[in-house]
Amino acid sequence: MSSRRRFLELSAAGAFALASPRLHAKDPMKKLGVALVGLGMYSTGQLGPALKQTKHCRLSAVVTGSPEKGRQWARDYGFPESSVYGYDTMGRLADNKDVDIVYVVTPPALHARDCIAAAKAGKHVLCEKPMEVSTAQCDVIINACKAAGVKLSIGYRLHFDPFHEELRKLVRSQEFGPFMTMTGGFAFSMQKAQWRAEKALAGGGPLMDLGIYVVQEACMAAGATPVAATATVHPKKRPEFFKDVEESISWTLEFPNGAKCESFTSYDAGRNDFRAEAKGGWFELKPAFNYGGIAGATSRGPLVIAGVNQQALQMDDFALCVLNGQESRVGGAMGRRDMAIVEAIYASAAGGGKRVEVR
Ligand code: NAD
Repeated sequence: MSSRRRFLELSAAGAFALASPRLHAKDPMKKLGVALVGLGMYSTGQLGPALKQTKHCRLSAVVTGSPEKGRQWARDYGFPESSVYGYDTMGRLADNKDVDIVYVVTPPALHARDCIAAAKAGKHVLCEKPMEVSTAQCDVIINACKAAGVKLSIGYRLHFDPFHEELRKLVRSQEFGPFMTMTGGFAFSMQKAQWRAEKALAGGGPLMDLGIYVVQEACMAAGATPVAATATVHPKKRPEFFKDVEESISWTLEFPNGAKCESFTSYDAGRNDFRAEAKGGWFELKPAFNYGGIAGATSRGPLVIAGVNQQALQMDDFALCVLNGQESRVGGAMGRRDMAIVEAIYASAAGGGKRVEVR
């Protein structure tokens, strides 16, 4: 992009007037520095490569349990080895002016620990989904960011995908009327032992990891927060593998206008779809939740849309929020809302499928 175009983009959005002074208000050409916390599958496969495609960010530091891995990242991404931190030395990020945003990509039950460390170091916080493992822990993150005066965003990449934007457009225009009947499923067959099957780190089973996408999509399609949930946990086929988390769960969300979303998630099946029906038409995505290759149609015909790098757009959006002094459209309140819905779903399943209100 030309420097003039970038200048106009930033100044049109009021970057100079609103940006926090320590964030390059005098240098709109500078990309914001991002530190990735946790160099696992998602950082390695998606976020690192996406950072090379961002317009407003660059990888400037990492936090990892493996200094050797961190040094390799420093060489690959061109930042100094002094910008490799351990989880216990994250406090030193406070002295690194090259880091503006800390992106927490560790297992969910560690998000509060890492977000607090980032906020205390004075860095803006991007936290992966699910935000944490309970609404109480989400509050801890929200309060830490508030106290430090830093911004908070959740890694809800699908809000930056144009297929999902089509759904939001239909909700905004009400072209088909309200979507009253929705179905969605996200499931895969887990073969390898990992934190995702450990309650202490994951907070739950596939509902926390995959089902949350269906919860998100249902809220998008309904344009509202559900009032209640009913849920059933299915019998385990591999109880030795899924000792203290569910293997498969079905649930129904009920929205204030009476709309319902029937949903399913599992670590022992394959599903990746979402459909919403209204009086005047329908919307469907299949696959719905992938990083790319999303496909779908509405009652008007197939959706013909070019793919994007969701993660690059998501990180650029947060960088612009930081530069422009705006709140993220996928902020802490949304992460907390989804955890409240997840808690209602688990409470219903634990109560034998009784209707539980979302609080
Ligand atoms: P992963 O297991 O591949 O990576 C986790 C990282 O955390 C590893 O680098 C690991 O070393 C580190 N870690 C630090 N302390 C740990 C501990 N005590 N136990 C286990 N690991 C520890 O997992 P991942 O797939 O990269 O997922 C990480 C986060 O990203 C999760 O919150 C997950 O939900 C999220 N995620 C989001 C998406 C998305 O599309 N938005 C996709 C995948 C993962």
